[in-house]
This record gives sequence, structure tokens and C-alpha cells, in this order.
Amino acid sequence: MILRELHCDVNILLHVLPDENRRQRLGRGMTDFRKALIAKPGRKVKFSQWDPDDTLGFHKGAKCEAKLADNLAKLDSLQNLLYAEKKHALLIVLQAMDAGGKDGTIRHVMSGVNPQGCSVTSFKTPTADELSHDFLWRIHKAVPAAGYLGIFNRSHYEDVLVVRVHELVPKSVWSARYDQINEFEKELTQNRVTILKFFLHISKDEQKKRFLERIDDVDKRWKISASDFGERKFWAEYVEAYEEALTRCSTNRAPWYIIPANKKWIRNLAVSSILVETLEDLKMKYPKPSFDVQDLKWK
Ligand code: ATP
Ligand code: MG
Repeated sequence: MILRELHCDVNILLHVLPDENRRQRLGRGMTDFRKALIAKPGRKVKFSQWDPDDTLGFHKGAKCEAKLADNLAKLDSLQNLLYAEKKHALLIVLQAMDAGGKDGTIRHVMSGVNPQGCSVTSFKTPTADELSHDFLWRIHKAVPAAGYLGIFNRSHYEDVLVVRVHELVPKSVWSARYDQINEFEKELTQNRVTILKFFLHISKDEQKKRFLERIDDVDKRWKISASDFGERKFWAEYVEAYEEALTRCSTNRAPWYIIPANKKWIRNLAVSSILVETLEDLKMKYPKPSFDVQDLKWK
């Protein structure tokens, strides 16, 4: 009883502590990753206030590994429930600078999930056909149906990121897109789609380290692309574009979470915890069988 009350008090603290302190408390008894890592709707995002090396008060080791394993097991059964109930869809949006760990997150966090109920869509440079439609056309087609978990590896946010940084369309066009994205996401959430958006936050030094690893490691060398090195020159412009996208498009309906991602173990723990917390909140139930099992007659 006392323990339970203490636990509640600790969670209430999450609301009143400054953001940095709140994040440090996660590993020390606070349990809600979402409250600690959300880009608060209506508040300006400044990455300088978010440490990409943060470990959220946790320490690498057996305890965290056990928590991650527990999350993956829970995710497996929650996805089974999602599929059986077919009332909700879950859309996970992943964005990051190059080498930010989108692929690794998908591989690790989704490793326990049944592939039959899951889809991953990687959004690349739009084709001529895609460009001849509005920017959300290809996105809407890939939104998961009820019962499914869909992952976007890059997303409609590229249309206010790379497109803005490289002026691929006039400012008047990309600047109207923040509102259009909010409207689109609102429509989805009103139609049974739960949206989680993760920005995997790495530092410029960590990106360099990962690029160098790709050069050294034969298993990773295939991932090197000259354009990634080119994009690095635009780091500051991307930071500005991301900060504006997260500031304007983190909403109560479809929040952005800023995941410290220099350390892969805490990144995986944070993303999997937020997925579990969100799916548990849906209070899903297995549907009743369409017939009375008592009536089954065995020959
Ligand atoms: P990997 O980890 O395999 O490199 P990736 O997501 O970086 O994954 P790439 O094929 O290297 O995949 O890059 C995809 C490219 O497509 C990125 O440079 C991205 O900016 C670009 N892109 C995605 N959406 C758009 C868009 N709407 N307009 C212009 N470019 C886009
Ligand atoms: Mg790439």
C-alpha cells in the first residue's frame, strides 16, 4: 500500500519537474516514458535541451536487458490482441538524421512481433508518379488498416525536412504543409489510427562515428552512401527544420517523442516502453468466439 502510494507520488512529480530532471528520474522509479520524452504540444522544441547521450537514469546491464525482453514479450501479445480485436491500427513514424538508427530500431524492437500483422514502408525520393500527386497521396495508401501495426521508415515529414532544406518546392508550398499534416493526422486518429512519432536524436559526432564504422566494417559498408556525407554539411539546416516540424506537429492526438539515441540500448528500451504503454492504454479485448464452445460436438 505504502509502496503504491509512493509510486503514485513519484509519477505526479513528472508533471512539475523541469524536463531534464524528469528524464533523469525515469530510471529511478518513475515509470512513464511517454511523459518524460514527449515534445510537449505547444512548446518550442530546442534540441540543445535534449541530450542525445541521455540514459534517463538507467544503467546499461542485465536489469535493462530484462526490461527490454519483458517489453518485447508484451509487444508480441499486445500485437496479437490488436490483430484479433481489429478495432485499432497503430502507426509508428520513425525519423532521424542519417545513421540515426531507424533500421536498427525496427530490427530490435520489432524482433518479437508477428510479421503477419505488421508492415514497414520506407519512403524514398518520390517517383515521378508520386510527385504528380499531392504529397500525402503515397503516405495515405500506406497507413495500416485496423488490426495492423504499420511502421514508416521516413514519412510525410520529409516534405518539410529534406524538401525545405534543399528548397525542392517554394517556401509558400512547404510552409503550408505543417497545418496539412496536422489535419491529416487528426483525420487518421479520428478513424481508429493511433499515431506514435519517434525522432531518434543523435549528435553530429555520433553520426561521424557511425559513418566511420560503416567504412571499417565489411558488414556495414554497403550502407555507405555519398549523399549521406553530402547531407552532413546541412546538419544545422536539418536541426532547424526538425525543430520546427516537432514544435508545430507534436499534438495531443499524434505526439512526437524525442528519443536519446546515441546509445542504442536506451533507445530500444525507450521506444519499446512507449509502444507497450500506448498499446496497453487502448484497453483491447479478445473478441468472443462466434459460437458457444460448449456446443462443440466431438466425434
Ligand atoms: P538507409 O538506412 O538504408 O540509408 P534511408 O531512409 O536513408 O535508409 P535512402 O535510400 O538512403 O534510405 O534515402 C532515402 C532518401 O529519400 C533520403 O535522402 C530522403 O531524404 C529522401 N526522401 C524521402 N522522402 C522524400 C521526399 N518527400 N522528397 C524528397 N526526398 C525524399
Ligand atoms: Mg540513407
